[in-house]
Amino acid sequence: MDDSHNKTALNDKTATQRQLERLEGTSRHIATTVIDFIFPPLCLNCQTELDAPNHLCSPCWQDITFLVEPLCHVKGTPLPYDINPFNNDQLTISADALANPPIYDQARSIAHYDGTMRALIHKFKYQDRHELTSLFATWLMHFGRTQLSRADLLIPVPLYKWRFWQRRFNQSAEIAKRLSTLSGIPYDVEPLIRTKKTRAQVGLSFKERQNNVRNAFYIPPSKVKAIENKTVILIDDVITTGATVNAAATKLKDSGVSSVIVLSLATVIKELIETF
Ligand SMILES: [Zn+2]
Repeated sequence: MDDSHNKTALNDKTATQRQLERLEGTSRHIATTVIDFIFPPLCLNCQTELDAPNHLCSPCWQDITFLVEPLCHVKGTPLPYDINPFNNDQLTISADALANPPIYDQARSIAHYDGTMRALIHKFKYQDRHELTSLFATWLMHFGRTQLSRADLLIPVPLYKWRFWQRRFNQSAEIAKRLSTLSGIPYDVEPLIRTKKTRAQVGLSFKERQNNVRNAFYIPPSKVKAIENKTVILIDDVITTGATVNAAATKLKDSGVSSVIVLSLATVIKELIETF
């Protein structure tokens, strides 16, 4: 077989492939149109009909308070104004982070824990709305991009076993898994084990929360090598006072982790005047 014949065969194959791809694209388009007709895409929060799937309607979207700069460099909480607008080298740290420095090195969240965000997290946690995993992981990729760029490992904050079975899935692990796929950073659910059944944190004072989560985590000795000298990202759903992630960060650092960064879906934000 000569060279020109080979080239023609190659071109024919490519043309056939192109035709198949076009057909595949057309049938996929028809299938999507039919599915959209039978099951129109709905707002992930309020179920209003939308043009595209896996989105929020405009009012629900506007009801989310995303956490954007100026933020406290350490806790990621919003600041009322940028105190260093002309000095980008100087890190802006809130009065709260200076007075109560956390054990973890840095925290970032997608949004305030209120409005639509609160409703979405509720649906995700208690109504098993797994389709939200993708949306949350994509948002974390954006809001935690600087932190993810220097991370070695993603670790979800574990639930106590009993609670795990009650809820059937650990939402933080679901998100860590998806975030790992998107970012290429490995994730591991094994280094951190929840040893204590803690009370729900809602309604407890700061001191009560600290006692509640004291010794709540355990790191198996066999896992220490895998986390030593690593920059670890802890994935959690909601940060209230930070007592849980601080307890987890304490254990991780005691076992040789060099840096602990927390990425969460939402943070309970007190009044700005208290933050700064
Ligand atoms: Zn909506």
